[in-house]
Amino acid sequence: MKLGFIGLGIMGKPMVKNLLKAGYEVTVYDIIKENVDLVVEAGAVAAGSAKEVAKECKTIITMLPNSPHVKAVVMGENGVLEGAQEGSILIDMSSIAPLASQEISEACAKKGVKMIDAPVSGGEPKAVDGSLSIMVGGPEEVFREVYDILMVMGGSAVHCGAIGAGNTTKLANQVIVALNIAAVSEAFMLSTKAGVDPNKVFAAIKGGLAGSTVMNAKVPMITAGNFKPGFKIDLHIKDLNNALETGHGVGAPLPLTASVMEILQNLHMDGCGQEDHSAIAKYYEKLAGCQIRCEEE
Ligand code: NAD
Repeated sequence: MKLGFIGLGIMGKPMVKNLLKAGYEVTVYDIIKENVDLVVEAGAVAAGSAKEVAKECKTIITMLPNSPHVKAVVMGENGVLEGAQEGSILIDMSSIAPLASQEISEACAKKGVKMIDAPVSGGEPKAVDGSLSIMVGGPEEVFREVYDILMVMGGSAVHCGAIGAGNTTKLANQVIVALNIAAVSEAFMLSTKAGVDPNKVFAAIKGGLAGSTVMNAKVPMITAGNFKPGFKIDLHIKDLNNALETGHGVGAPLPLTASVMEILQNLHMDGCGQEDHSAIAKYYEKLAGCQIRCEEE
């Protein structure tokens, strides 16, 4: 079966490779040629535009940074809707504002194109091993139709509600992840400053109530001073912006999200926007004048 895939960044590349391994023929497009070349080497076919991808394939996946990128790729010049056939399906796996998903789906409907929003959690490692958590909004029958495709990339795919519900769920996920990294950074700075080896703290508490997937993934990075992305600070700023806007829109105050947003903004101003979000620890390191590092390697 033929699939289109647009957006070949940190996440898109391994997702395409898994689809190829599962036997799908994948036609791809990205504005960065090196990203296209890397998946073409793995067996994908390059297209010259999003429109061309949509002409070739009746199921099109997008994995792009934010709402304006998805709107441009789907609704813009040489975009998906210029090439799509009636009855085609758009699976937008980008993390974008729920309202943008609704707007894009309305434009799709005018052309007879069905759409689901299907953002993911799990980051690059889970994109590589095909075990992403996928949260889906949109018509349940479309979700069922593409379920097998989603499960090539994911370890789970849950239908959360109408179009936009996937991205609302993803915003909840991103609030929890950001606050959790900040809590881990704050707590590990406390124990480091008080003279306890962070590796010992990690070993002692990771199996208890404070343990988390975030702690397991990020503490080894923080204690090694390795902030290679992963998930970039600037992308998390985008998600918390969408969360705050959505929260304000529906009347849900998000005081802790607003605080962590200021930490991320500070890191962005310090030139760390392209680093992993575990670099939240660097904000605490600046405040305390001390690094969270283990005593021995
Ligand atoms: P990325 O910046 O690495 O990749 C985005 C890709 O989109 C780039 O290759 C870029 O060239 C391409 N692109 C941008 N505009 C385009 C256009 N007009 N036409 C074609 N291609 C275009 O981002 P990423 O880390 O792969 O993240 C993609 C999405 O997945 C984001 O919404 C992000 O929030 C979400 N996400 C990322 C992670 C992670 O750990 N990296 C985890 C879960 C979800």
